[in-house]
Amino acid sequence: MINLVSDTVTKPTPGMLQAMMAAEVGDDVFGEDPTVNALEAKVAALFHKEAALFCPSGTMTNQIAIKVHTQPLDEVICDEYSHVYQYETGGYAYNSGVAINLIKGRHGKITAEQVEAAIKPEADWLPKSRLVVLENTCNKGGGSYYTLDEIRPISKLCWHRGLALHLDGARIFNALVETGETPQAVGEQFDSISICLSKGLGTPVGSVLIGTKAFIRQARRIRKVMGGGMRQAGYLAAAGIYALDHQVDRLKEDNERARTIGAVLEKMPYASEVRPVQTNILIFDVNPPYTAASFLEKLAAKGVKASPFGPQTVRFVTHLDFTEEMMERVIGVLKELE
Ligand SMILES: *Cc1c(COP(=O)(O)O)cnc(C)c1O
Repeated sequence: MINLVSDTVTKPTPGMLQAMMAAEVGDDVFGEDPTVNALEAKVAALFHKEAALFCPSGTMTNQIAIKVHTQPLDEVICDEYSHVYQYETGGYAYNSGVAINLIKGRHGKITAEQVEAAIKPEADWLPKSRLVVLENTCNKGGGSYYTLDEIRPISKLCWHRGLALHLDGARIFNALVETGETPQAVGEQFDSISICLSKGLGTPVGSVLIGTKAFIRQARRIRKVMGGGMRQAGYLAAAGIYALDHQVDRLKEDNERARTIGAVLEKMPYASEVRPVQTNILIFDVNPPYTAASFLEKLAAKGVKASPFGPQTVRFVTHLDFTEEMMERVIGVLKELE
């Protein structure tokens, strides 16, 4: 079976497993795991920030960021497609007691003008606009990405208006290999950043939250109360260090393979609305009589697994364990379908 359900389905490479087995570990709740400390220092330096925190998931790093940046009765401004709104079980309300103010962006991306229009005036009866969350790349937006030129006006606005700016950078490296921009330059635009190690980077577990020392000090307390304090987590952190050293540049291949498949789908009579493929996520609609479910069933019968993204919508995600040869097979299957 060829699995295009998500880039989270990858298994550790032999080199990564070796690095994990060789990790030096300690108790990270006491701050004594040297490998976790090394990963956190490495990621903080990479993004030109003071400190970082290793967490079990990207949901947790996003939820901790919202918690640390806000007070109850505040509001978070983000695109309606945002992971923090769509796929984190409504955690912003549950964990932080905040409201959400959704912007209709373009492929999951919003502009400074839209953010400015969304900021609420101060009044006793209104939630207080406090935090803006951008997602780069945007999952539900079809892997769309922001360039720094698009981000800068938003960070400038947030700075002027006293709002915090968080980046859900679960797939930030998929964007950076396209733009050629540096993590440092991205780091300078945000108060906090969450990156996932277990998506395109291919580790089994883990995300990293990045920010100032004071922000991370509080984030550590929130991680603990959420049950995310881990002990000999260095075995997992070692996979993250390995991924950052060896598995970033190759993300370009994932992006290219998604684009190649997208170009094939453009020509298929059963597919429409193939979203612009910017990185490793490919979203398209299937025409009736197909539904997403019946199309996926047909694909599965031919050995390709993918996920529904709406009644008529299908998502493919390319990744580390999806080879060139698998891509050729998928293209063959897509051409056989009518
Ligand atoms: C996957 C993902 C996350 C975090 O997901 P976890 O499964 O909790 O690690 C956050 N944001 C985006 C955009 C994602 O795709």
